Amino acid sequence: RVRNVVAHSFIKKLEQEKTLTKKLLEIERQAHTDFLTGLDNRTILEKSVGEFFVKSSSYDAVFISLDIDDFKTINDTFGHMTGDETIKKVAALLVKFFDKKTIVCRMGGDEFAAFLKLSGSGLQIGRKIIEAKAQAACALIHEVYSDGQNEVTITASIGVALYPQNGKRFDELYKKADSVLYTSKNGGKNQYTICESPIQQSEP
Ligand code: GH3
Ligand code: MG
Repeated sequence: RVRNVVAHSFIKKLEQEKTLTKKLLEIERQAHTDFLTGLDNRTILEKSVGEFFVKSSSYDAVFISLDIDDFKTINDTFGHMTGDETIKKVAALLVKFFDKKTIVCRMGGDEFAAFLKLSGSGLQIGRKIIEAKAQAACALIHEVYSDGQNEVTITASIGVALYPQNGKRFDELYKKADSVLYTSKNGGKNQYTICESPIQQSEP
C-alpha cells in the first residue's frame, strides 16, 4: 500500500512537471512570436542572425528590410481592421515567397525583415541574383483595396544589406538595410535599393 501511494504521488509529480514544461514552452513561443502575423519577432531574428555569425560566418547572407508604403492611408481609409488584414496578408506573401531557410520576421508596425543565408561565399550567388530576388520581393506586394468608393494599391519599399560586405553584426546590417530602405522611400517608393550596390536603384 505504501509503495502504491509513493508511485501515485510520483506519477502526479511527473504530470505536474509535464504541464509546467508545456506552459513554459508556450510562454517561450509567445515571447518569440508576433501575435498578429504568427511570424518570428525581432528578438528571434536577432538571435538567429547572431547564431549564423557564430556557426556559418564563412557563408554570405542578405538582410532585407521591407516597409509597406503609405500604410497609414489604409488605416485612415478602410480602418484598422483592414490595416491588420493587410499586415497579415503581407506576412503570408513573404513566408510563401522566401524558402524555409530564410528567417522572415515582423520588426513592428508595417515593417518586416528577412535574413537569407546564401549557399556559398564570395557572393558566388552573384549580385544579379540578389537583385532579381529583391525585385521579385518588391513586385510581390501589389494588393488593391477598394470599398467601391476608395481604391488604394498597397506596395512596399525595400532596402538590402549584404553580409559580410556591409556589416558583420545584426545592428550594422539592420542599420545599413534601413538606411537604403529610406533611399527607396525617397526615390518614390515601390522599389528596392541594395546597399553600396554598383546599380544603386532599380524600378521593379
Ligand atoms: P511610408 O510610406 O513612409 O512608410 O508611410 P506609412 O504611411 O506607411 O507610415 P509609417 O510606415 O511611418 O507608419 C506605419 C503606421 O502603421 C503607423 C501606425 O499607425 C500603423 N500601425 C502600426 N502597427 C499597426 C498594427 O498592428 N495594425 C494597424 N492596423 N496599424 C498599425
Ligand atoms: Mg510604411
